[in-house]
Amino acid sequence: MKILVLNAGSSSQKCALFELERDTPPDPIPPLWEGKLEWDGNQETLVMNSSRGKMRKQTEAPAAKQNRQRSTEAMLENLWSGSGAVLSAPAEISAVGHRIVHGGSQLTEPVVIDARVKQGIADLTALAPLHNQAGLQGIELMEKLLPDTTQIAVFDTGFHRTLPLAAAVYPGPYEWYERGIRRYGFHGINHQYCAGRAARLMRQDISSLKIVTCHLGNGCSLAAVNGGRSVDTTMGFTPLEGLMMGTRSGSIDPGILTYLIRAGDAGDQLDDVLNHRSGLLGVSGVSRDMRDILEAIRSGNQRAKLAFEIFVHRLQAGIGAMAISLGGLDALVFTAGIGENSPEIRHATCAGLGFLGVQVDDVKNSAANPDENISGRDASVCVFVIRAQEEWAIAQDCAQLCHFE
Ligand code: ADP
Repeated sequence: MKILVLNAGSSSQKCALFELERDTPPDPIPPLWEGKLEWDGNQETLVMNSSRGKMRKQTEAPAAKQNRQRSTEAMLENLWSGSGAVLSAPAEISAVGHRIVHGGSQLTEPVVIDARVKQGIADLTALAPLHNQAGLQGIELMEKLLPDTTQIAVFDTGFHRTLPLAAAVYPGPYEWYERGIRRYGFHGINHQYCAGRAARLMRQDISSLKIVTCHLGNGCSLAAVNGGRSVDTTMGFTPLEGLMMGTRSGSIDPGILTYLIRAGDAGDQLDDVLNHRSGLLGVSGVSRDMRDILEAIRSGNQRAKLAFEIFVHRLQAGIGAMAISLGGLDALVFTAGIGENSPEIRHATCAGLGFLGVQVDDVKNSAANPDENISGRDASVCVFVIRAQEEWAIAQDCAQLCHFE
């Protein structure tokens, strides 16, 4: 069956079409077609890739991101029309899967989308405004383009439903927890995929493994995966908690916020600072992109160097905390944009983790062939660089759900 996946990020829209059977093995197969739209200020970049070839197009339009739905529709039309078409008609698509960032306490398993599910996703918009809204727009677009096709939501919070209460409940008043203010955790689709992939690469049953997965993209989070279940994670009630990120601060002393509020800063202002003007960008003043930070360090920029060092310091602290939650460590996984592509970050991070049994082979780390074990000869922990495969993981969930429907 052919399954189309929509993965709506805060500043990107990825789509991929897979052909898979009910018993397709868990390791990824290349999509028949994939497309990605990325927005940076007024600039929109479209990249498409299929057996029919590759194309890249850059356009400038004021508030490019506002045209998300229109641009996504135009991108998807390439599936069934034009010279690069891989389908003869849209009806060939059996199901559409959507990555939905926040499912809250109720929406934890992959589910066929109906009015109730849509309302549930909309109700959670306040907790992940950019992401859940983009997810809903994708659902509505597909309702328009493929009104008779099953649509399935897969939740990025779902994998963390197994967090023990000690990890999930904040030490504020208990009433917060009763109101739904708790740690949900995010990036679950990729954390789950990477832990499973690591176990298969180790040729061991995941039920006996303790794995820390480091998802380091524009957003960054860690997960502690014990026997295949998430038992701790760094993101929390929202995707703002935890590690330092491209433009997000990650965890800071909440006293800073009350101090700034008393000094006259409004809630929306603080929200903007913490989400869009902090992290690598905020500290360095250079960029949110790790590539630019590394470049600036090479030309002697001290604030870029500080941003790098804070990033690594917090990452190491987080890995330590996850290893403690697991009571041991068999594998450490680096994934997503920074995790997959920056030997510098992997080297600096692992250099401080020798006491945990982590040791990286410099040659393998520099080469970092996808899904390779880069640990050194004396290591007791396997260190993997694993390509994020969110669309593939969602397609598999869809195939399974369609099977049981
Ligand atoms: P998203 O979280 O939006 O899915 P990605 O996982 O693609 O994003 O990660 C994007 C980030 O990956 C970029 O902002 C950049 O910091 C980082 N990145 C990509 N390529 C490299 C590279 N070669 N070296 C260092 N960082 C990289």
